[in-house]
Formats: sequence, C-alpha cells, structure tokens
Amino acid sequence: MAVRTHWAIDHTCGHQVERDLSDRAADRRAGFARWLGDRECSDCWKAARESSPVDKQQWLATRRAEEHAAATEWEQRYHMPPLEGPEKALAWAIRCRHQLVADAYTALVVEGDWDEADWSELEEQVRTVTRAGWWIDQRDAEGGDLPELLAAATDADRPTENPFV
Ligand SMILES: [Zn+2]
Repeated sequence: MAVRTHWAIDHTCGHQVERDLSDRAADRRAGFARWLGDRECSDCWKAARESSPVDKQQWLATRRAEEHAAATEWEQRYHMPPLEGPEKALAWAIRCRHQLVADAYTALVVEGDWDEADWSELEEQVRTVTRAGWWIDQRDAEGGDLPELLAAATDADRPTENPFV
C-alpha cells in the first residue's frame, strides 16, 4: 500500500483544498492535515490580510462620522452658526471648532476658575468667528488659549454680522 501523500483539507472557512503533503515526513502528514483543517484556507487568509487597509479606512470613516454627528448636535444645542468656506473644508472645520471649544470648556470652566457667565461671553465670541479656515488653522491649539485666539481674530474671520448680538 502506497503511503498517503494527498489530503483533502476541510478548512474553517468552508473551503476544501486538496494538498500534496509529500514534502512532510510520512508520520507527520495526518497531524499537519489536522492543523491545516483548524485554519482558513490560504486564499481566505490572504484576502483577510489584504482587506485590512480597507477595514482601517472604514474604521476611520466611521469615527469621523461619529465625530461629525457629535459636532453637529453640539452646534444645534448651543446655536452655533454655520461655518463658511469651501465645501470640502467645512466638515473638517466643524470638527475642529467642536474639539477646540470642548477643550476650552474643560480647561477654563471644569479645570479652571471660570464661571458660566464668563463662559457665555466666550461662547458669544465663538459664534462670531465663522470662517472655516480660521478653525482649521487652530486645530493644534490648546483649549486654554481660545480666549486669546478669538481676541486676535480679524474682521475677515467674522464674515457675517453676528445675529446673536
Ligand atoms: Zn477559504
């Protein structure tokens, strides 16, 4: 009787693959075939590895969508006016504004000595700066610096008349 060299491996992915195990020692083939059977086939394994950059993009896109949803909810609750700028910069600017103002609240009110009245005044200032590019430029700023940054904003950064004054 010839020593068995070919094995039909039933992989966990559901594929059955014929394998030539003649390069393995004869007494190891059955064990190796079992080991292979506990795994997905090499095509599925490769496909899973190649798809991970896509998964990462997907993950990033999902995270951005969540951040965007949080930012727009915040805008509505605090009556933040829409930003102005090129269409493709708007979503980014919206996230930057939300992030920086949230950081400022933490630094000045939660961890600082500002009261709600101080904060309301700053919020009024925040509402006047509607140039999208201004908020993107401040993306690396510290929350505690927001009052100073707003004070340095120019008329060009306040393209619309503030409807809240
Ligand atoms: Zn497979």
